[in-house]
Amino acid sequence: MEIYKEFHFEAAHRLPNVPEGHKCARLHGHSFQVRIVISGDAPEPTGWVMDFADVKASFKPLHDMLDHHYLNDISGLENPTSENIARWIWQRLKPSLSQLSAVEIRETCTSGCIYRGD
Ligand SMILES: [Zn+2]
Repeated sequence: MEIYKEFHFEAAHRLPNVPEGHKCARLHGHSFQVRIVISGDAPEPTGWVMDFADVKASFKPLHDMLDHHYLNDISGLENPTSENIARWIWQRLKPSLSQLSAVEIRETCTSGCIYRGD
């Protein structure tokens, strides 16, 4: 069974390592969407994999670090691609959410990435 909880955050970034003239080198922002996926059994009597409130509580410190921030200033996100944001979230959530199975980031309606761990 897989459950997921979605979050969003607003943030600015620029990508420092793209080819010269690439539009992503310029400062811009996104309404990032984050999906946290948790895998496991859903045994009775709870009948659930995990309390969604526990997923929310685990993500909250990271959300506070990301929302309305300039991502390039955050330690570990100096090159804040969607891929690196997903990995950054994974590395910080996995210790407290052992059942974490995927982190999905969408930076536009049509573009995103899914990270399933190292
Ligand atoms: Zn961007």
